[in-house]
Amino acid sequence: MFWNNIIIFGKLAEVAKDAALLHGVLMRTQETPMSSELVSYAPFTLFPTPVPKAVFHQALAVQTFYNTLVDKISQDSEFLQEALASTIAVDDFTARLFKIHQMILKEGKSQDIVLGLNRSDYMLDQGGDGTSSLKQIEINTIAASFGGLSSRTPDVHRLVLTVAGRKEESQQILDNNPAAGLARGIAKAWELYGAPRAVVMFLVEESQRNIFDHRFVENELWKRKHVFYSHLSDGQEVAVVYFRNGYMPQNYISEQAWDARLLMERSLAVKCPDINTHLAGTKKVQQVLAKPGVLERFLPDHPEAVQQIRATFAGLYTLDMGAEGDKNIAMALATPDRFVLKPQREGGGNNIYGTEICQVLEAVKESSERTAYILMDKIQPTPQQNYLLRRDAPLKISDCLSELGVFGTYVRQGTHMVMNECVGHLLRTKSSEHQDGGVAAGVAVLDNPLLI
Ligand code: ADP
Ligand code: MG
Repeated sequence: MFWNNIIIFGKLAEVAKDAALLHGVLMRTQETPMSSELVSYAPFTLFPTPVPKAVFHQALAVQTFYNTLVDKISQDSEFLQEALASTIAVDDFTARLFKIHQMILKEGKSQDIVLGLNRSDYMLDQGGDGTSSLKQIEINTIAASFGGLSSRTPDVHRLVLTVAGRKEESQQILDNNPAAGLARGIAKAWELYGAPRAVVMFLVEESQRNIFDHRFVENELWKRKHVFYSHLSDGQEVAVVYFRNGYMPQNYISEQAWDARLLMERSLAVKCPDINTHLAGTKKVQQVLAKPGVLERFLPDHPEAVQQIRATFAGLYTLDMGAEGDKNIAMALATPDRFVLKPQREGGGNNIYGTEICQVLEAVKESSERTAYILMDKIQPTPQQNYLLRRDAPLKISDCLSELGVFGTYVRQGTHMVMNECVGHLLRTKSSEHQDGGVAAGVAVLDNPLLI
């Protein structure tokens, strides 16, 4: 079969890699992560993956509702406090973030412009009747990645399909430009800040090294609540701080790093995200949202939004102390393969599956340590065959699972929503033998949906 002809596919893979280089689907290498001399292509699938049209459009349609929801949660400190109470009692990282939130609450926010750039991730759960339903994995309210690369992958798959003689399918690959939509949000926030010489500061990851410690200066003008970027020679005023860093405990290797986060949070700069929005994206909040009546609290006059959001929820279960938590633990211990156990972490590779769920739960079930986790139904998508192109990996066909992400941008000033948009999508695909892990973790690769 054409499908399994390794010679043809080997040639096609070479064409695909060249196209990736040509279109800027690039990544720095692990050996030389700081080098601009040596880069490689970012891993991607040889072919786009079929995705049912209806669920794809469902995911796009619910995004502006998710934007509104996240924004409303971020403004409800009482809710955040209640939802996160059991978590912060045992999870130091979330507790420290929460402490900053409380300090700002006491001092009063210095900036009423809010910029949200998020990505809601989904998998398609396979129903018994052959249909698939859209289920949210999580929403990322900080450092939602791949808006840039996913703007460039459509041209690669178009070329591959054209060369493979599938011209018609190649024309069905959707245009996608989340980078432009995310940038529009940043530009709008900068404009509203209203200081033409002020800059946008991107706090980037430098191979997970903490960069909070340097690059800021506190000088006289700090008294007027501006934050300055010392990396630029004259200490530029910052209008917008974008956090591509700061979402993992490892990003805060010193007290100075926490001081820097607080400094930025107190500053007049527009934070993306601000501390409230960061906390609104925690997995514990996701679990609490699935409880009856909670969505209605945030969207009381929008039953349609509530219904559309709730339709994307998988089963989410509390492990808080008490009868309900006990029942959920018993359920997980009895059928661990039906669930995923999640700590309050971001960045991939932290979740717990299968028999390891039993080991962890047996160890923590009698203590409040268990409240550091939430339990979630495991989504079971139908595997699809594809070739994962990754540097130095042999070309072989794999059973693959895909995760669809949808990017949202919003800007609010005071009570006025200035912008609320769905700005694009991301499809990531991994071999079904891996339970967890994203592109950066070296497990998933970039992909495009082919709507069917
Ligand atoms: P992170 O913040 O680390 O990205 P996620 O909740 O996105 O955490 O989980 C990481 C990965 O684990 C996902 O990309 C997905 O592959 C897998 N995963 C997470 N939740 C589920 C689930 N409920 N069912 C199946 N796979 C899941
Ligand atoms: Mg994720």
